[in-house]
Amino acid sequence: MRLCVINTGGTIGCTGSPLAPLPAAKFADACRSMLDPVIAQQFPGVQITYRTDLTFPGSRSGTLDSTNLQPADWCRMAGYILKHYAECDGWIVLHGTDTMEFTGAALPFLLSSFSKDGAVTAALSKPVILTGSQLPMFREDSKTRQLSLNSNSDAVQNFYGAVAAAQTGIPEVCLYFDGRLYRGSRIRKTSTARPDAFSSPNFPPLGEYGTQFTIAPGRALPPPADRVSLDNPSVRNNAIAQLDYIAAHINNYPVMPFSAFPAWYGANSGLIAALIDACVAQGVKGLILQSYGAGNFPSGNPDDPAQGAAYQALARANVNGVVIVNCTQVLEGAVGSDYAAGAWLPAVGALGSADMTPSASLAKLMILLTAAGYSGNQWNAAEVKTLFQRNLLGEMSE
Ligand code: ASP
Repeated sequence: MRLCVINTGGTIGCTGSPLAPLPAAKFADACRSMLDPVIAQQFPGVQITYRTDLTFPGSRSGTLDSTNLQPADWCRMAGYILKHYAECDGWIVLHGTDTMEFTGAALPFLLSSFSKDGAVTAALSKPVILTGSQLPMFREDSKTRQLSLNSNSDAVQNFYGAVAAAQTGIPEVCLYFDGRLYRGSRIRKTSTARPDAFSSPNFPPLGEYGTQFTIAPGRALPPPADRVSLDNPSVRNNAIAQLDYIAAHINNYPVMPFSAFPAWYGANSGLIAALIDACVAQGVKGLILQSYGAGNFPSGNPDDPAQGAAYQALARANVNGVVIVNCTQVLEGAVGSDYAAGAWLPAVGALGSADMTPSASLAKLMILLTAAGYSGNQWNAAEVKTLFQRNLLGEMSE
C-alpha cells in the first residue's frame, strides 16, 4: 500500500520553546530515518512517501500552527490530495489539534460534489486520515540542531495508528487520535493537554486500535459506486474544477459562529442585536448561532420574542440574505424547539442543525454557499438551505 504523508503543521512537527513548526523537509528526513524502520517491520507492504511540496503562504517553515489556517488552506489541502490522487492508496494529513475539527469537517465536502437534491456525484474511495499530537514528535538539540525522537510523546503512537487506520482502506476523512478513529466531521477538541484530546459526542468512533485495528461494522461510509468514485478520472477532473472555483471564491462567503451569552438588552436595543447588525455590516454571509441548551437564544424580549432587539436584528440579517443556523454550544445532543426561548428562531429563518457540531456547521455552510455559484451547480438560496439541512456525508444524524 502506498501512503502519502502531508505535513500541514501543528505540535506534532514543532520543536523549541515556544513551540514553532519545523520546516517540512527537516521533519520528513527525521521521520524517514527514525520512524520508517519501525513501519517496515510492523507494516510490511506499506510504502510511505513524505510530501514536502504542499506549503502554506505566509509561513517561513511552509507549515502552520493550525491557529493560522484559513478557509483557503482547507482548499489547498484538498486540492493537493485531488491533484495527486492516483499516486497513492491513502493519505495521512499531519495537522495541529487546535483547528482539527474545522479541517476534519471541511475536507469531506471539498473532496466531494453533490447534485442539488443531495445525491453524491463525486466521493472518496481512499482513506484520508488526519492526525496530530499533544507533544512534539522530535526534540531538537539547541546546539547541533539535530533531532531525536521524543520518547514521551503521543506523536509516535498517533502516527503509527494513522498508518494502521489507513491500511483498513476506509473511504472517508477521519481523525486518528489516542487509539481511536473518528469521523472527521464529528470531532470536538475536548482537552488541551490529555492524550485523548478529542471526543465525538454525537457519533461513536469508527474504529479502535487495540491488539489489532478494528472498524465498527456498519459505521463507516460505504465505498463509492464506480460512476461517482474519485478513482474515475472524469469524476476527479470535475471535482478539481469545482474545488478550484471554491478556492477562488471562499473568502467572499464568511460564516461566523455567534455564541449566545448573558448580555444586557432594553426595550429596543441590546448588545447582542448591535453585534449581529455589525456582523452583517461586515459582509458575513452566514451566522452559526451557538445557542444555549437544546436551541435557545436570547431574543431581547422574554414575553414577546418578536419585539426583542436580537430577534429583529436576526430578522434583518435574514432579509439581507444571511443564512442563520441554530446550533447548540452544548457538547452533546441536538437542537429542537421545546422551549418558547428558542421556538421563535424559525420565524427569523434560522435553520436547524440537528446534531452537527458548530465547526461542521460552519465549514459545511461556507462551502455550500461558495459552491452554489459554480457553473456545474448553480444552486439558489433555497437549494443551499435544503442541502445544508441534509445529511450529505455522515456529518449529522438523519
Ligand atoms: N497550536 C497547535 C496547533 O493547533 C496545537 C496542537 O497541534 O496540538 O497547531
